[in-house]
Amino acid sequence: MQTSGPLYRQLWFQTLLAIIIGVVVGFATDGKSAQWFGWLGIIFVRLLKMVIVPLILTSIVTGVASVGGGKSLGRLGVKTLSYYLLTSLMAILTGLAFVNAIKPGVGADLAGTSGKELPTLQTVDNLAEIFYRMIPTNPIAAMSGGDMLAVIFFAILLGVGITQLPSGKDDTIRGIFEQGFDLMMVITTGIIRLLPLGVLGLISTAVASAGIDTFKALGLYALTIVGALSVHYLISLPLLLWVLGRMKPWVHYRNMAEAMITAFSTSSSSATLPVTLRSVRERVGVSNKVTSFVLPMGATVNMDGTALYECVGAIFIAQVLGFDLSTAAQATIVVTALLASIGAAGIPSAGLVMIFLVTEAVGLTGPEVATIVGIMLAVDRPLDMYRTMVNVTSDSAGAAIIAKSEGETGINQS
Ligand code: ASP
Repeated sequence: MQTSGPLYRQLWFQTLLAIIIGVVVGFATDGKSAQWFGWLGIIFVRLLKMVIVPLILTSIVTGVASVGGGKSLGRLGVKTLSYYLLTSLMAILTGLAFVNAIKPGVGADLAGTSGKELPTLQTVDNLAEIFYRMIPTNPIAAMSGGDMLAVIFFAILLGVGITQLPSGKDDTIRGIFEQGFDLMMVITTGIIRLLPLGVLGLISTAVASAGIDTFKALGLYALTIVGALSVHYLISLPLLLWVLGRMKPWVHYRNMAEAMITAFSTSSSSATLPVTLRSVRERVGVSNKVTSFVLPMGATVNMDGTALYECVGAIFIAQVLGFDLSTAAQATIVVTALLASIGAAGIPSAGLVMIFLVTEAVGLTGPEVATIVGIMLAVDRPLDMYRTMVNVTSDSAGAAIIAKSEGETGINQS
């Protein structure tokens, strides 16, 4: 982010302005703004998506190869997975407390709102499939299909394989991946210059399509999620940065502003990954070794906001249908919400579809559930924007905390 020179030339200022213009234009034109500015958002997201697969591949291979095989890789892996689990569980429990205290679904009359068609998104039939899918039968097909978990798996193996090559025989292949990664970061930096234009297109379209009316019907439900997400975003994650990482949370948040805005406007952790990688590396000051390992995996696996949402959403559905969930059923929801968040792809509305996995685990099935999910879809976009921002923030905080625990001293503290 450019931080010198006159205000109007600074990227954060331009982006803020773009958000304000996007909101005003979106409301004022009642959908027409999608024609005027929508294309800017579409081009921006396409550009980001263009770099995701080569970035994930080169970044993970470089990261794993530089960590080395064996013990140090194992240590980093255990730390990373522990962080993912800890924060996702904290988020789920926050959501659980909110939904049980506010009870947004009890007595909610959703009959007046007509159900909407569910989008066709990548869904999973069962939990085992999430794990099977990680192993690609054809790595090239996984890359061309954008199957992130499978690409990550293959990239880790490539990285480990490089460390096993006899010394002197690995220079070329290491160089190719390292320079490939640097090259992708150069391209990413260029794309990020377009952030204000992309945000203008995305925000004005989102505002125009969400509308205020839909919020009235589901206001309490939306408030419950926003409240719980805010506690996680504004209290839990900063506390972790402070206590576990001994870092100033506000400095970290400031350094991650570009990535947060991108997550908020694209609703996609995967599309945001190029920006997240660049911000954590260049602004937060985390080494390549840790960013390359923690972030690409985090974008698919670590989704605090989505985990929280799965829990609140499933219990909301139970409340609307008049079920009083037992403690055992709520515990099942906690576990399946975690798994659903791991399995959800980092794309818009992925979390909404995964909610069926959670409801089915506690026996909530039938057309009523689908109807309520359809109604929830009406307000999903803004909630998705916020939970994606929380997902990305948690990934970045994890990278910083893990880097600190590995003894890194380059973290930017002012
Ligand atoms: N859109 C979210 C993400 O990409 C996933 C979700 O729908 O919760 O992180």
